Amino acid sequence: MSETPEAVMDDASREFLENLPELEPGKTFCFACNPDVPCFNRCCAELTLPLTPYDVLRLRRHFGMDSETFLNTHTRMRTFPDTGFPLPLLRMLEGPGEPCPFVTPAGCSVYEDRPGACRCYPLGRGAKMTHDGVEERFFIVREPHCHGFDQGRDWTAQEWLADQGLDTFNAANDRYMRLMTMVRASGKPLEARMATMAVLCLYQLDKFRELITQMHIFSRVDISEERRNAIMSRDEDTLDFALDWMELIIFGQSEGLKKHE
Ligand code: SF4
Ligand code: SF4
Repeated sequence: MSETPEAVMDDASREFLENLPELEPGKTFCFACNPDVPCFNRCCAELTLPLTPYDVLRLRRHFGMDSETFLNTHTRMRTFPDTGFPLPLLRMLEGPGEPCPFVTPAGCSVYEDRPGACRCYPLGRGAKMTHDGVEERFFIVREPHCHGFDQGRDWTAQEWLADQGLDTFNAANDRYMRLMTMVRASGKPLEARMATMAVLCLYQLDKFRELITQMHIFSRVDISEERRNAIMSRDEDTLDFALDWMELIIFGQSEGLKKHE
């Protein structure tokens, strides 16, 4: 499987996607994947699978692990060269075939919390920020070993995304993409100290909550009591705030957050 979370693509991944056949708006592709296909589980091995902050949120919560244990156990940390943002790759198991750590003979053991790229496959999603929001394009990733195209029903891209539960993933990933796009456009990749902060804020939400308390972060911003409570109790709200906070400390201002005067 060629998996690339669309929101965090580097130049090589973007070029790879652009060379695939495009699924034009309204057009369909025929596909089905189930345990009866002869290639079952073939795509869940030897992957370079970058995890977005929302992917990690879902997987970490699935296992009930603290973030440090999750990152140390299941990822190899890399860095985006153009922006300096952290790039955790899912660590495949060592040994024959290098399987994904979550694949079992019965399929994906984290299915309900599997990463966005696994859900999107066999589509690749190219997304870019525009003045009006996000512009999406879809590409078909047809690999020789995959028999999913030999059967099933016809899907538009939007039907496939809805069926695979991608809406929440894309919303969170696109917010992250906006921040990275801003940093890329500034021409100033994150310095080491800020990159470390990005790991903590975006990939270690449990530690970020501790930091909020220790640094009295809420006293520095104009934020409602209701949002404070949500940030301290719900991972999705913590991540949403973390993205606003990163934007604020990188650029001195954030669309979603105002500093106290
Ligand atoms: S997370 Fe699940 S779907 Fe994704 S590669 Fe691993 S086993 Fe396959
Ligand atoms: S049909 Fe394609 S997606 Fe499904 S298991 Fe086979 S290779 Fe993977």
